[in-house]
Amino acid sequence: MQVNQRYDILPTMIPVSIYIHIPFCVHRCAYCDFNTYAGMEKWIPAYTEALCREIAVVSEAAPEGISVQTIFFGGGTPSYLSASLLNKVLHTVRSHFQVMEKAEISLEANPGTVEPHLFEELREAGFNRLSIGMQSAIPKELKFLTRIHTVEDVQNSVIQARKAGFQNINLDLIFGIPGQTIQTWKNSLEFALSLQPEHVSLYSLTVEEGTPLNHWVEEGKISMPSDDDAAELYEYSMDAMAEAGYLQYEISNWAKQDLNGDWLMCRHNLQYWRYLPYLGFGAGSHGFFENTRISNVLGIPEYINRIKSLSSHQFPASAAVDQILILDRQEQMKEFMMVGLRLTHEGVSLLEFYHRFGVSLLEVFGKEIEFLLARGLIEWFNENKRLRLTKRGKLLGNQVFLYFV
Ligand code: SF4
Repeated sequence: MQVNQRYDILPTMIPVSIYIHIPFCVHRCAYCDFNTYAGMEKWIPAYTEALCREIAVVSEAAPEGISVQTIFFGGGTPSYLSASLLNKVLHTVRSHFQVMEKAEISLEANPGTVEPHLFEELREAGFNRLSIGMQSAIPKELKFLTRIHTVEDVQNSVIQARKAGFQNINLDLIFGIPGQTIQTWKNSLEFALSLQPEHVSLYSLTVEEGTPLNHWVEEGKISMPSDDDAAELYEYSMDAMAEAGYLQYEISNWAKQDLNGDWLMCRHNLQYWRYLPYLGFGAGSHGFFENTRISNVLGIPEYINRIKSLSSHQFPASAAVDQILILDRQEQMKEFMMVGLRLTHEGVSLLEFYHRFGVSLLEVFGKEIEFLLARGLIEWFNENKRLRLTKRGKLLGNQVFLYFV
């Protein structure tokens, strides 16, 4: 068997993904701890200039032959920016990197910020996937989450996206909201499915430090649903989504088949879960290439000033880099398992582990695997060549991952 002895260096010909961070929002939702800001609109033009410059500078230092298979505009609220600014950034990526013909090009959209013709202009420029933050179909729940949109806005966004020619749409929903019942969750899910999205992401509401939600909980103004209540909603979702013909391919993600029989999974996120390289641009973005993990400074003015300084850094970092982490082989093996086991359908492959690290998965994690198998949290499949979470394991995913770190 051919083994890649350079376990920490992926062949540079492996296509990369590109993540572009847009850290602007109309207002901050009560539960959100993402790197995003409200009231900073005046920085938008300078920020997009800086983004374009960062992309250009990093591309000059990139290894020969690098190609891009997915581009993801995330945030924040990318749809808060005008189509012309978004298209300018996309154009910059295309003119500095070799973007593959069938690349997936996604944009996150908040239904409360979709200007007329935005989707048409994005589609014309080559965007081919939208991820729409629906969160709930229940007005009371949207209000609790302090979302700026209504359920009608969600429906209109999907209609506009279809009209513009988008054939790959994701809807994000949140469960485990205080006051949510199995019935209101069922209604939200049914409403989402009635819009016939190709992809659905279902996230459990978590209380993040420093958020208004955290204060409300600490002050006793609200109480969060118990783990058992949240698990009941998640289990219901798994059954309902399967019944509706969606494949659960990741703990929080479901995809439908296209007319050719291919599952429309998010190819960009698959890159993360398959532990493959990606470049990040923008304030607070992260990148991972070969054995290096980097992150950029968080603040918008700081990011812009750093990029203006033009100081040089080694690929994949730019002048905006805040942290550079070199991962040793042990750390990479742990991370490979942590992210790979999130893939609830394909799981992790014994052969792939051996190819990448030159050592058997069982030799490294034999004890942990045995322990988790005995508790029914993971299972072998595909003639014992692959390992994945069981249904019980999906419910306790975070605990399972801890065994590998
Ligand atoms: S719209 Fe999204 S990124 Fe912006 S504050 Fe709300 S949850 Fe956070």
